[in-house]
Amino acid sequence: MESDIIIIGGGAAGLMAAYGAAQELSGNGDPGKVTVLEKMPRPGRKIMLTGKGRCNFTNVKDWEAFSAHIRAGRSAVRHSFFSLSPEKMVGFINSFGTETVVERGDRAFPASYHASDIVDTLVRACTKAGAEIITGSETVSVSIDENGKTFSVEDSRGRIYRCRKLIIATGGLSYPATGSTGDGYAFAGSFGHRTVGTFPSLTALVPAGYKVTEKPSIGMIAAKALDGYGGFVGKNDHPDLPEGYPETKGHINRNLPLSSLGETLCGLHLKNVGLTVIENGTAVETVTGDVDFTDGGLEGPAGFQVSRRCVKALVNGAKISLVLDMKPGVPAGELENRVRGLWEGIRNDRRSERMSFTNRYNVLLGKLLPREAIRAFRIMNRNAEDMIQLCKALKGWKFDIAGYVGYERCVVTAGGVDTAGIIPKTMESRLCKGLYLCGEVLDIDADTGGYNLQMAFCTGLLAGRSAANSLISSRT
Ligand SMILES: Cc1cc2nc3c(=O)[nH]c(=O)nc-3n(C[C@H](O)[C@H](O)[C@H](O)COP(=O)(O)OP(=O)(O)OC[C@H]3O[C@@H](n4cnc5c(N)ncnc54)[C@H](O)[C@@H]3O)c2cc1C
Repeated sequence: MESDIIIIGGGAAGLMAAYGAAQELSGNGDPGKVTVLEKMPRPGRKIMLTGKGRCNFTNVKDWEAFSAHIRAGRSAVRHSFFSLSPEKMVGFINSFGTETVVERGDRAFPASYHASDIVDTLVRACTKAGAEIITGSETVSVSIDENGKTFSVEDSRGRIYRCRKLIIATGGLSYPATGSTGDGYAFAGSFGHRTVGTFPSLTALVPAGYKVTEKPSIGMIAAKALDGYGGFVGKNDHPDLPEGYPETKGHINRNLPLSSLGETLCGLHLKNVGLTVIENGTAVETVTGDVDFTDGGLEGPAGFQVSRRCVKALVNGAKISLVLDMKPGVPAGELENRVRGLWEGIRNDRRSERMSFTNRYNVLLGKLLPREAIRAFRIMNRNAEDMIQLCKALKGWKFDIAGYVGYERCVVTAGGVDTAGIIPKTMESRLCKGLYLCGEVLDIDADTGGYNLQMAFCTGLLAGRSAANSLISSRT
């Protein structure tokens, strides 16, 4: 089958690339054909999961503030950001009749809070511009002829597609059930591109003792290796991960059962706490925000903010601890005075006259911690029964980290195709003319907040437009 421009992958980047290419061609009166090959039965499967189904599709900050949230690939993204800024992205979605809202932190969502509205808008934009989306077509290999002019793309059913321009938009490795299984790294590799080591980012960090130490029952997980705390590490033979998925050291399967400590902590939502990362005994980063304990481990906005650094360190064999400061706005000395005052008040209260020390102490903790946190706090801070130790524990509730949840449930893949091999002004490969790459397949990643989708959209649009323009100029 012949097409002028083929895009492998119908996710955020691929759909935007298809729209950009088809619109550029038709706007220039060029009859060129644009085709998306998507392996899943429907395009945009991952977008459907984003923002917990609400799709935080961009973040309307200016470049300076936006780029502070990019963890890798800032210079590779800069040019495309200006060709499709977050405001333009919002305008693009609105221009197809989909209303949007901007929430706290400049995060933009569809006004319906349905991710499907964003997917429908993207698909409509593509088809209206004239691009074809072929679903159920899994690319298995790519090549270029000896003249360097025509690409061949073979899918798993043996169909061969030929094109003049090829765009790889296959995403990363996270949530493989959505179709993102890292295939693009090998495709790019076949044209000489290098892949920077990948690891999961924006993921749960698993405290020591959070998961069961016993061997799992037969049929649960065929895990091979037990770490010191009983989590299964280093082998990604997880039911949710396809066979042969890349291993990352420190990976703990998400569906390993919780220990009793895990059960006690799971469900706890801590608002506005301090979170300090200790790497090999040295404090390296402190953030403030919300922390959630889930079936995976410690996550939530503040947890995610430090997860990239922690996973990278764990992969490299470092020891990581996280320290929660339950009273980040109160200096230690002031907290001590406050706690002593509260304790005096409880002891002098007639209602507590007949209470045991333990019950009085629980009343005190009830004034200092969310109710649901008290049990876990007591279990983990047994020596904090005098006021000085208690204050230390409130400002330094320590969790040694045994590992992290892997690609099966991480939000984004750090690492990917080296951006040094890409021309940022066009997203074209420096190694193979006519080849373009965009989105998460590249070594680009950012914090949560709409940044990752925006990077996929803007690099995708630029790749599509550049491929179309190059095609148009080759005809004249
Ligand atoms: C649970 C979750 C929540 C998220 N929430 C947000 C959020 O609210 N805001 C935000 O900005 N980001 C969010 N992200 C991140 C964001 O979804 C990704 O960064 C973004 O989707 C990357 O876009 P992409 O097009 O590069 O890759 P993908 O969206 O992964 O798309 C790649 C596509 O390529 C297809 N494909 C792969 N290999 C082949 C092949 N061999 N042949 C054919 N097709 C192939 C896949 O099926 C897939 O459709 C979230 C991610 C997850 C997992």
